[in-house]
Amino acid sequence: MEIKNVLVLGAGTMGNGIAHVFAQNDYNVIMVDPFESALTKAISTIEKNLNRQVKKGSLTEVQSKDTFARIKTSTNLADGKDADIAIEAAIEIKELKYKLFKELDELLKEGAILASNTSTISITEIAAHTNRADRVIGMHFMNPVPMMKLVEVIKGLATSDETYEVIKDLSVKLGKTPVLANDYPGFIANRILMPLINEAIFAVMENVGTVDAIDEVAKLGFAHPMGPLALADLIGLDVTLAIMQVLHNDIGDPRFRPAPLLKKMVAAGYLGRKSGKGFYDYSGEAPLPFKF
Ligand code: NAD
Repeated sequence: MEIKNVLVLGAGTMGNGIAHVFAQNDYNVIMVDPFESALTKAISTIEKNLNRQVKKGSLTEVQSKDTFARIKTSTNLADGKDADIAIEAAIEIKELKYKLFKELDELLKEGAILASNTSTISITEIAAHTNRADRVIGMHFMNPVPMMKLVEVIKGLATSDETYEVIKDLSVKLGKTPVLANDYPGFIANRILMPLINEAIFAVMENVGTVDAIDEVAKLGFAHPMGPLALADLIGLDVTLAIMQVLHNDIGDPRFRPAPLLKKMVAAGYLGRKSGKGFYDYSGEAPLPFKF
């Protein structure tokens, strides 16, 4: 099947990056979010990121303009009805994703593929809320989407081999490397990454080290490009908590319990970069570690 028109549902941290990457690779994109403010913010982020690519020389002025022109926005899901594929990147709440997939199934043409960018939620369960479980799949992009090479592709129990092949080829066309994961909570990436971040938050809470010290150990000691606390801020602490809760509930092992400090920070509205404060304060030129 030929994919030309792409519906990106959700215009947050991931949605804007996914829209950017598809448009840069000649796909027509419609980005849908119920909040006009989210769409405005996403468009301004895409514009900034495109300008940065032009400055770096990885994109010409013309390519940047063409990319930008290929992205339309709407607050109305029905405007995405002509899509050949939908990539859902709305907030990580099971019930919301079930509802959105039911709506997408009713709206999109018969052969269209419905993909979710979920970090942890079962693709098999999402698919069960549609009448096309064979064409439902996980397409898990990494943050920041324009820079990160990996796409974790998750086959639900009913996902067809044909759908998997289409998504594998599509990922390559986007300049990404697809890696197949099976449908277990957290798949591969978050099953490994999130417990590391959660443990780093326990280490802050128990005063094993300061925010700076913990991130320095990971950078200098493990050669990670970024410490786990700075990474949690980039991902979003609300997203981090939602993922830990799914791992904890669905695997049922106490080792996945979210750190109480993570819950407290989310309750306080300290969500990381997107709210201006998390383990670091982003209000100045360079982020400063938060003092606990
Ligand atoms: P985010 O909070 O930045 O954005 C979520 C967006 O969903 C918001 O713009 C919100 O307005 C929108 N939304 C709310 N209700 C909606 C609805 N009914 N229909 C459509 N959109 C709606 O979240 P994010 O970080 O972009 O995460 C999106 C998805 O991607 C989640 O499933 C998350 O687990 C996954 N993910 C996140 C990361 C990351 O690093 N943040 C990485 C990989 C995957």
